[in-house]
Amino acid sequence: MGKENTTASSLDDLIEKAGGCAVIDGGFATQLETHGASINDPLWSALYLIKQPHLVKRVHLEYLEAGADILVTSSYQATIPGFLSRGLSIEEAESLLEKSVTLAVEARDKFWDAVKKVPGHNYNRALVAASIGSYGAYLADGSEYSGNYGPGVDLEKLKDFHRRRLQVLVESGPDLLAFETIPNKLEAQALVELLEEENIQIPSWICFSSVDGENAPSGESFKECLDIINKSGKVNAVGINCAPPQFVENLICYFKELTKKAIVVYPNSGEVWDGRAKKWLPSKCLGDGKFESFATRWRDSGAKLIGGCCRTTPSTIQAVSKVLKERS
Ligand SMILES: [Zn+2]
Repeated sequence: MGKENTTASSLDDLIEKAGGCAVIDGGFATQLETHGASINDPLWSALYLIKQPHLVKRVHLEYLEAGADILVTSSYQATIPGFLSRGLSIEEAESLLEKSVTLAVEARDKFWDAVKKVPGHNYNRALVAASIGSYGAYLADGSEYSGNYGPGVDLEKLKDFHRRRLQVLVESGPDLLAFETIPNKLEAQALVELLEEENIQIPSWICFSSVDGENAPSGESFKECLDIINKSGKVNAVGINCAPPQFVENLICYFKELTKKAIVVYPNSGEVWDGRAKKWLPSKCLGDGKFESFATRWRDSGAKLIGGCCRTTPSTIQAVSKVLKERS
């Protein structure tokens, strides 16, 4: 191995404690909606950092109770330019990013303080992963599923877009970073360079979306994308999020040929998001039972981190956690 990796230990420890495969939480906005939240907004679930932070914390607690070993923060679509466009100041925008981390950390600490006193409990002290959505997620035009950012977007522009948010989130004290729904090679390159330039010392994962089950949404091969990530000592895990679950098993096998890094998967429920209409289109939706039987196959195929993305719920994660912890 080349560069010594000093950032891996907390994530590696958690995976080991969890019996070789740790459980990530499920859809955040989906669960907000079950509590009556309306998220048809360019800021999406980030709106609730402003409107109802107690609800954000409640959803985190529900996923902890369900058995999540990792909480992903509500910052996926929380960006400084996004908040500025809603009339907030830079200071307010940065404090909301910080709040996304502190709400998750507070929920984790509260849950752990209570549960660690219970004899024979089956929980791990969860880690908090700061969510960093792709540039396309900020655009809110569906381009996180097309990978098409247009000719005006180059490497520097993507690094500039991500830099300050990354700094603020890291300063807020998460345990790791979760880069989500990355749709193309250029953005993977930007993130790898940024982690190096900012000398980030906490673990991170980079997850791609996929719309055809074989390639990144841009049509670029995962081999090209992972070749870039493999050169980085600062990315600990790589994988897939928010793709349909039926793609995942093949992609785990493919990724295992392409990388030695840990593989992370948290697909959506299989329903289809229409980025323009901003709604879920009905499809042959999987019930929780189906998702959980998929999860054991993903674990057996070599995934080390498994959870759910859009339209999965605490009951999905409870089922996943149960089957993964039973056999370990
Ligand atoms: Zn999703």
